[in-house]
Parts: sequence; structure tokens; C-alpha cells
Amino acid sequence: MSGREIAREVAIVPGLIANAYLVGSRESWVVVDAGIPGSHRRIRRAATRRFGADARPRAVVLTHGHFDHAGSAGALAAYWGVPIFAHERELPFLNGEREYPPMDSSPPGFFCKLSRLFPSRTVRLDGYLEELRPQAPPPGLEEWECVETPGHTPGHVAFFRPAGGVLLAGDAITTMDLDSFTGTILCRPRVCRPPVPATTDWDNARRSVERLAALRPRVLAAGHGPPIQDGAAELQSLAAHFAPPPYGRYVQAR
Ligand SMILES: [Zn+2]
Ligand SMILES: [Zn+2]
Repeated sequence: MSGREIAREVAIVPGLIANAYLVGSRESWVVVDAGIPGSHRRIRRAATRRFGADARPRAVVLTHGHFDHAGSAGALAAYWGVPIFAHERELPFLNGEREYPPMDSSPPGFFCKLSRLFPSRTVRLDGYLEELRPQAPPPGLEEWECVETPGHTPGHVAFFRPAGGVLLAGDAITTMDLDSFTGTILCRPRVCRPPVPATTDWDNARRSVERLAALRPRVLAAGHGPPIQDGAAELQSLAAHFAPPPYGRYVQAR
């Protein structure tokens, strides 16, 4: 499974909680998201199998700074001697200036209960961080666009490649139902809203899903869940019927 190609020049490295992706060609590639702390060996092994023993990425690029996406970024950046790119609104959470708001385990759903075990504090990546400029393609990935998708976190970004309609969505959507115990355990593919306990701005989260749906991506590759190969219609349906959780710390009364 590790390093399985899901589209041309896109391979998934599934992790215990979140997926990482190896994106690009042997000449120029990056790691998009880096799993929980301790995932660096698995990601490096997948990269070696895919690109060869001496392969070195241009950078580690983060959709956002949560611990399940940034956890092994520092270890990978140190090993390869490469920078870590994140949107400027994520940088304060990764350099120790600010902490993410606490996880909300009060709404219904399996992942909310599980989230009591997760830290809202993330990793420190000082010394490696560089600002990801959303107006330009991500470093080393000329064919890709950066799509600002705030809501789950303030500086969340997704990456879209028009060729083949490939979307690396981070946590702007999930491709499994984290609210359902069986859906999560069986890893059943389904296009769903962002992970509830860590999403702090639901109005922006909805707008970001609409923005992604308008791109009509075919391949949906998110931080949580298996990749979906023909997901445009399902994503449009999520955007059309988007609903925040019924209640919770970050849910506005309507
Ligand atoms: Zn997240
Ligand atoms: Zn996540």
C-alpha cells in the first residue's frame, strides 16, 4: 500500500491517522503533509521506493499545521535538509507564537470522542519554516495550484492539478465519515465535511468546500480517508448540502 500511485505523479503514504503524499517526478518532488510524529521513517521508505535511495524532495509542504499533518515534517526536513512551507496564517501555530483553539469533543460523532486523546498543541518547526505564497504554484510543482481553503484552520490550503483533476484536500474535506464508528473503522470511501473536533470556523469551512467543488476535481485525496477516483459529483453534493455539526463549541446558534 505504501507509496501507491493514485494519479500520475501522485502517491499516497497512508498513516495511522492521516495520509501523506509524494507528489511530482523524480527530478522535482515534494512531500505534502507529513503524518503524526514518528511517521518520518515510513514516509522516507516510501520515497526511496518511489524515487530511489538518493532522492531528495524540494520541500515538505503542509496543508495546515495540525499535529497529524505536521507531526513528522521537522524530522523529514532535518534529514533531507529542505524547508517546510506553510501558509502565513499557519506559521504562528508552528513557530510557538500561538496555539490552535482547543479541540471540541462535545458534538456527536465517533471522531469527536476519539479527539479527547489528541493534543491541540502541535509541533514546533522553527528553523525550517518558509511562507507558502498561494498566488504561485507550490515550490517544485509547476503544474499545481494552491487553493486557499480556510475554515478548518485559518491558513488551510489545498492543492489542485488541472491535468487529471487531482485535488489534495488536506482537511478541507475528508473522504471517510469520521462521525461514524463503522465508517471510520472500515475506512469506507465517502466525501464528508472537515473533521469536526478541530474545525473552528464553519462558515469559512463551507465556503472552502464550495470553492473546491467549483474546481470539479475528479481525484479526491484528503488527509483522512481513502482516495476517491471519480468524486466531482459527490463533492458538489457536499457543497450543496453542507451542514455544520448540530451543536458544539465552534458552531454558531442559528
Ligand atoms: Zn486538521
Ligand atoms: Zn487531520
